[in-house]
Amino acid sequence: MCDRKKSGDMENHHADTRDAVRQLFDTVDAISVQGYDQERKVVYWNIGSEKIYGYSAEEAVGQKLEDLIIPEHMREGVVSAHRDWVTDGIEIPASELTLRNKSGQDVSVYSSHVMFRNAHDEYEMYCIDVYLGDVKKAQRQAVSKEELLNSVFESIPDLFFLLTEDGRIVECHAGDSRKLYVEYEQIVGKHMVDFLPEEVSAKFKASIAKSIAEGGVLSFEYYLDLPIGRIYFEARLSHLPGQKQVVVIARDITEANEAAELIRKQAYFDSLTSIPNRLLSLDRLSQMIKEMERSGEKAAVVFLDVDDFKKVNDSLGHDVGDKVLVEAANRLSSVVRDSDTVGRLGGDEFIVLMGALAESFDAVGTVEKLLGVFREPFTIDGRELILTTSIGVAVFPDNGESATDLLRNADAAMYQSKEAGRNTYSFFTKQMNAMILRRLEIEEQLYGALERGEFEVCYQPKINLRSGRIMGAEALLRWHSSVMGSVAPDEFIPIAEHTGLIVPIGKFVLAQALACLKEWGRASGQEYTMAVNLSPRQFRDQDFIDYVKQSLRTSGVAPERLEFEITEGVLLIGQACVDDILTGLHTLGIKLSMDDFGTGYSSLSYLRRYDFDLLKIDRSFVGGITTNKEDRDLVTATIAMAHSLNLEVVAEGVETADQLNVLCKLGCDVAQGYHFSKPIPARELMHYRLTDSCMVGG
Ligand code: C2E
Ligand code: CA
Ligand code: CA
Repeated sequence: MCDRKKSGDMENHHADTRDAVRQLFDTVDAISVQGYDQERKVVYWNIGSEKIYGYSAEEAVGQKLEDLIIPEHMREGVVSAHRDWVTDGIEIPASELTLRNKSGQDVSVYSSHVMFRNAHDEYEMYCIDVYLGDVKKAQRQAVSKEELLNSVFESIPDLFFLLTEDGRIVECHAGDSRKLYVEYEQIVGKHMVDFLPEEVSAKFKASIAKSIAEGGVLSFEYYLDLPIGRIYFEARLSHLPGQKQVVVIARDITEANEAAELIRKQAYFDSLTSIPNRLLSLDRLSQMIKEMERSGEKAAVVFLDVDDFKKVNDSLGHDVGDKVLVEAANRLSSVVRDSDTVGRLGGDEFIVLMGALAESFDAVGTVEKLLGVFREPFTIDGRELILTTSIGVAVFPDNGESATDLLRNADAAMYQSKEAGRNTYSFFTKQMNAMILRRLEIEEQLYGALERGEFEVCYQPKINLRSGRIMGAEALLRWHSSVMGSVAPDEFIPIAEHTGLIVPIGKFVLAQALACLKEWGRASGQEYTMAVNLSPRQFRDQDFIDYVKQSLRTSGVAPERLEFEITEGVLLIGQACVDDILTGLHTLGIKLSMDDFGTGYSSLSYLRRYDFDLLKIDRSFVGGITTNKEDRDLVTATIAMAHSLNLEVVAEGVETADQLNVLCKLGCDVAQGYHFSKPIPARELMHYRLTDSCMVGG
């Protein structure tokens, strides 16, 4: 109401016209038309006015404009503007105003005004107000909707893009602008292919095309290398056919990806060395076989086993052992091609897979390098360790066409390397194949052998060299297979251990041996001892001690009459369960004997650590005692050392009188061997007597 201009001629109106216009306005209810006299009193009030301002015509007529719909603060201005118009002809221009309705609420209107001179020559002003309330509300809602959207876009981590169907960016919102590939200002209006890496924009293009064709929400993943690092996104894309636009919401899935990656790593990679674990190695092996089948090339499966690794673990601790394995994995990985796989099968066993070979011979160079990586000593915590490895190689397809066969044959070849004195490699051969087939047959036949009654326990008498009398026997298992005939314990015991069948079989031996001992004592009126061999595997049997106790009870044999023979291998299988069982047996009063002494590793420390009662000198040394100075020196030293530790010494494998003589001179306590008797069945043991000729020099 501040802009005023001179009005044109305002007197050119007649009452007739006025009445006609009034009639017209009476029917219009969307527009308020009000007439005011010179005093600004209402003279006309149409139905639209009632609608917009709330007053009926009766209520309004006679009231003054400023008292009716003009808010307090505008009153003075309105009154003076009206006066200026009447006296000076200064027109009130049309404008948007906020007036007031009957209930005192704001009413937005677009207001225009005209001035008439009526028949009585008085000025009448007409106001035509168009209600703006709905428009305003819609405007306000639109503003608040945009604000809402903006704050949503800001607070969600997702990126939002609106694209044309050909991939031009119409709109872009990013809560975190660091996740935009180019700066915000440069994005809008650009075509996706203009700035995104080719691979990513190709994905977008393809998905847009697909969503236009098929509809629905599509999603795909991509990554961008941003200044904040590589960010992985999952884009969800949907086509808006009406707008011919495409909405894209891109979510940062880097963290989720990393978690998935970690899980994948844990499942497929060895946590210690970070190289492929058994699962992944075998998977790669199967993959490699398929590839070689296609290409017609050969592949080598190399099986490596670190020699004497248990010794390292045992004498220097697991930390050192772990470091050795990590270093070994690194060294092995350094000499193979990138396309080869170095994996850890478990423990100290590694596998190397080499594909694309023209000849088996082509593997030799790398295999020699693999063997060679151990030549340098390992320096762990400032300590130098000399280590070697035994390697076995099986070649696809010559030595097997399946992963299982190749692995088994590489393992067999590795075994061959161990037998050959370690620190060497062997390729799988036909003979090894025969050996494997026999092993498989033994394994097959061992199942059920106990139930079929194919086992027999034989006994080899033991002679006390001081008294010259029989003092006991060692129980030795015999297997008469109905299919394979007699199989030597050295052949079937390792397989029985491997399959776990040694557990029930061992129980059988113990029960037989105790029953025999009881019977032998009764028949002879003498107190004998019985030695029973124990396998490492039996130590892992939870109720072993209970079974021993119960067997002693049922047989009525005194615990100190029973000896368990244990090789050092038992002591290498892991401390806790061995300690528990050895202590348990010792507490029961059972005697412990260290078997095969001299063939193992660090025997002395074990002898000190555990409560052994007897030490058995391995028959390989006894065999050389009369012919080989080194064997004799070793036996001499062993007897002296054992005696200093209060251990009785048993010599096994005594075959000649000469050997017996030497052993007697060296102060050996007990002897057993073919010189006295082969292992014999229980009924023969009952009648066994020493002949005079046995005891030369005794
Ligand atoms: P070992 O405990 O060292 O048993 C001594 C082996 O030497 C026995 O072989 C025995 O027959 C053999 N032997 C005894 N005197 C002489 C001799 O004068 N000259 C020669 N050359 N050999 C002699 P065997 O019975 O074939 O048993 C071999 C191995 O099988 C045993 O070696 C033992 O480690 C294992 N074994 C035998 N029976 C059992 C058993 O019941 N349980 C377990 N866990 N292992 C057993
Ligand atoms: Ca033995
Ligand atoms: Ca032995």
